[in-house]
Amino acid sequence: MSTLHSPGRSADRSPDRGQDRGRDRWQDTASAAGLLADDGGVAVTIFAEMSALAVRTGAINLGQGFPDVDGPGYVKEAAIAAIQEGRNQYAPGDGVPELRRAVAEHQKRHYGLDVDPDTEVLVTTGATEALTASILALTRAGDDVLTLEPFYDSHAAAIGMSGATHVTAPLVPGPDGFRLDVDALRAAATPRLRMIVLNSPHNPTGAVLTRDELAAVAAVARERDAIVVTDEVYEHLTFGAEHVPMATLPGMAGRTLTISSSGKTFSFTGWKIGWVHGPAHLITAVRTVKQFLTYTSGAPFQPAVARALDDDDTPRELAASLADRRDLLCAGLEAAGFTVTRPEGTYFVMADAAGLLPRLGLRDGVDLCRRLPELAGVVAIPATAFCHAGSPTAQALASHVRFTFVKQEAVLREAATRLAGLSLPGA
Ligand code: PMP
Ligand code: GLN
Repeated sequence: MSTLHSPGRSADRSPDRGQDRGRDRWQDTASAAGLLADDGGVAVTIFAEMSALAVRTGAINLGQGFPDVDGPGYVKEAAIAAIQEGRNQYAPGDGVPELRRAVAEHQKRHYGLDVDPDTEVLVTTGATEALTASILALTRAGDDVLTLEPFYDSHAAAIGMSGATHVTAPLVPGPDGFRLDVDALRAAATPRLRMIVLNSPHNPTGAVLTRDELAAVAAVARERDAIVVTDEVYEHLTFGAEHVPMATLPGMAGRTLTISSSGKTFSFTGWKIGWVHGPAHLITAVRTVKQFLTYTSGAPFQPAVARALDDDDTPRELAASLADRRDLLCAGLEAAGFTVTRPEGTYFVMADAAGLLPRLGLRDGVDLCRRLPELAGVVAIPATAFCHAGSPTAQALASHVRFTFVKQEAVLREAATRLAGLSLPGA
């Protein structure tokens, strides 16, 4: 990925280990995430960088995707009660039984999937740990791992950590939103393909993959005998489009690891309670790695998330209010001179600044994001931060930036007013 790359923090090199040692694992990880500078320095993630910029400049932070209102009070009360009841020591490595049961029941109720809570579910430290443990458990140097491009940063970082080669298939903007280039997908799937890491609803584009697109991915996975890891953290945050879990496609449940998290669905991103489910043999592989990453975490939060998962109203209400906030921000961005691809899901919108850049004297989305706090008092993320540096997708999306709309309406209105100033003469 390419980031704004503020000068890298100087990296600890080990000169006495000799020239031939090559890079250490952390450097492969940083490099895969586009964070390793030519001088050996390492940058923080684009999300950390842009949130720090927002704090420094007092700008409205529409960069990092986290809600500015917490999830329901009764879920907080459940966590407080769990602490008071003394659920403060290690949770079982697989997660507390009531949360594993709630995950299995959720998958049955919403998608008709049969999941055994005892052998086919693992509670993790957010979706991030589920992703990293799955990728580390099942891929290695010599394997190809295919993702969509643009891609979420931790997918690329974990592939870098594993030593596998990261190949991509682009999502291309058009009148129907960002759509998968199925020919490119097929071309990218060589005999080395071991895993496909999917993400739908998709961060950063807001695309929700259609049944046909998913069927094309499934066909490639079957043909190459690849495992699919599907990141469905935005499964409930859709606006009319149907979210179809990959595991529900014919023949796919046996080769699919499905990942989700309470962060997005219930607005508790700081609790870091996620989960992965799939066939027992793949869960055994993921558990083996996961137990040596954290073993277990968030003991009192796990029963609270189980309570939340039993309740289908909270995510439904969040999705409805997000649809209104999406419309509000999209209208504001269009009025400011951006061309917007309306998202079908997530809480992100991609906006093309091509029409604005020349009159602002700016080159691309990276330039714009660097200057946006000063020009408009708003922070956003350049789309190229989700791409391989210089890739065809990075070139195609050079003038795009991502804004989040998971903020209160008043905040979005204020951001829209500020952004409108961009198209005024003299801006
Ligand atoms: N996957 C995607 C696509 C995301 O946007 C995020 C950000 N929350 C995550 C995974 C990480 O989820 P968690 O905070 O549960 O680790
Ligand atoms: N998922 C959040 C986003 O895309 C970022 C989470 C993080 O900072 N790693 O904005």
